[in-house]
Amino acid sequence: MSKQQYDYIVVGAGSAGCVMANRLSSNSNHKVLVLEAGPIDRTPFIKIPGAFAYFMFSKKYNWMYQAESVSDIRHGEPLFCPRGKTLGGSSAVNAMVYIRGQANDYNHWEALGNKDWGYSDILPYFIKSETNQRGADDFHGSKGPVYVSDPTNYYPLNDAFIKGTEQAGYPLTPDFNGKQFEGAGFFQFTIQDGERCGGSRAFLKPAMIRNNLNVECDAFVDKVIFEGKKAVGVEYTQNGVKHVVHANKEILLCGGAFNSPQTLMLSGIGAKEQLQQHNITVKHDLPGVGKNLQEHVDACVLVKSKKTDGFSVSPLSLLKMLPDTLTYLKSKTGKLSNSITQAGAFLKSSPEVDIPDIQMHFVPLLYDDSGRNLKLMAKHGYSLHVCVLNPKSRGEVTLKSAKPRDAVKIDFNFFSDPEDQKTLVNGIKVAREILRSNAFDEYRGEEIHPGAQIESDQEIFQKCKDLLGLVYHPVGTCKMGNDPMAVVDETLKVHGIENLRVVDASIMPTIVSGNTNATTVAIAEKAADMILQDSPAIKKNKAGAAIA
Ligand SMILES: Cc1cc2nc3c(=O)[nH]c(=O)nc-3n(C[C@H](O)[C@H](O)[C@H](O)COP(=O)(O)OP(=O)(O)OC[C@H]3O[C@@H](n4cnc5c(N)ncnc54)[C@H](O)[C@@H]3O)c2cc1C
Repeated sequence: MSKQQYDYIVVGAGSAGCVMANRLSSNSNHKVLVLEAGPIDRTPFIKIPGAFAYFMFSKKYNWMYQAESVSDIRHGEPLFCPRGKTLGGSSAVNAMVYIRGQANDYNHWEALGNKDWGYSDILPYFIKSETNQRGADDFHGSKGPVYVSDPTNYYPLNDAFIKGTEQAGYPLTPDFNGKQFEGAGFFQFTIQDGERCGGSRAFLKPAMIRNNLNVECDAFVDKVIFEGKKAVGVEYTQNGVKHVVHANKEILLCGGAFNSPQTLMLSGIGAKEQLQQHNITVKHDLPGVGKNLQEHVDACVLVKSKKTDGFSVSPLSLLKMLPDTLTYLKSKTGKLSNSITQAGAFLKSSPEVDIPDIQMHFVPLLYDDSGRNLKLMAKHGYSLHVCVLNPKSRGEVTLKSAKPRDAVKIDFNFFSDPEDQKTLVNGIKVAREILRSNAFDEYRGEEIHPGAQIESDQEIFQKCKDLLGLVYHPVGTCKMGNDPMAVVDETLKVHGIENLRVVDASIMPTIVSGNTNATTVAIAEKAADMILQDSPAIKKNKAGAAIA
């Protein structure tokens, strides 16, 4: 065992971890270590926006988790839960949609007792992290590391979706992250010059030239180590060798919504009964660890197309992609420089609701099972995916064993609150209204799912469950708050423990109304600010000596 010392140890180089690494090491007096379980992000596929599907099959770069199976969901097949496992974490494999959610989401966090987490508090961190292709305004930044750009639309089906939404009587919006959240439109993406701009490119790589930052890949953190109730270091395994490394100041858990609660529990922080069941010595009884799991549960309408100008993976269509591949290799432009999901909407599932409660992702492709249903994708068609934005159901993450390499048990407990069922079914009805509008007349073939004959709420719900999906947004398992089930306080410090914070998507007390990457980055920006304020930069003279 080797022993080393740093000021800060960041566990996990994902969306949040990359921000922490950059911002904390910007003070040259801080010695920062990042430990990432996955390999270095060397594969060219990470850079290519159109190569998103590759990662659904990659055991090397994807944790490939599976939720507990439920007999009437996907006919008992477990839900697939991809998570990124490399520098950049899930931002290295995600669909790059840039969404922040609505002001209400954050004002709700503040109303729950989390001081300074309202929309006006977090907006500056969205702006700080962003360079928007459209330039700066009251909502957008022009100096941040995350490049946010507009897509180039190669699929007329996307225009049909926008037009069809309008024809069905719903609003349009030019910017989901600006003045008007509600409506349909084109998403913006974390894509820069035709390449993915995830956490690694935006935050980590530029900081890796600093000699006060050390990034270790293939370094799996087994547990945090303590002196009494003070976190003092971590134990990690790299190439089969165990290491212990110490932190003078703090340890920051950035492992994401499945792994951060696991690391806490393996370190003896969690519900006493569960830890004892696995013979883990209880360091601190914190019953909320792993609870409060939320995810955007997703269902879809799939329609065959009479035309072939969408995307499919039939041998002929793939052959036709050859020129696009060459264009990308030559100039990083063309279809492959874009995400396949470009248009979407945030709408109200019924006139009774006050604010948008469903998100739609339109795909000019028959898309199911995280793009792993190749037989379906070989046909020509289009999909409208609908997710419940603010689900009421709560799931949990628990330990299967005390072995760090054993995945946690993921139980989403979807539809335990009947309101989620109602929202999803109403959402599918809205989706059908759009897809049955005149704008789709030239495309519309058979509705292959749920199927034109499926009309009653009960039938629609069962069909939703048959092809249920996720939008890959697990959050909430180390929730911020001050009630007995909260795991971290409003400064993201773990309750009852010194020198240990959780900084990632797991701290969200309630899921935000949209894709979760931008919010995770903003959370980390705010956390870094809080930490740097606690430990201000020491001014140095030209010779590098500290001055008053
Ligand atoms: C397939 C997919 C598509 C998505 N699409 C979008 C999208 O289009 N737009 C959007 O906004 N959001 C999207 N998301 C969600 C978004 O990417 C996540 O919410 C966000 O990346 C979460 O960031 P995080 O820092 O919490 O965790 P992650 O980014 O997952 O980072 C966790 C990191 O910690 C590492 N780690 C875990 N355990 C350990 C350990 N014990 N030791 C060392 N390292 C460890 C992991 O390998 C990983 O690198 C998508 C996610 C996925 C998986």
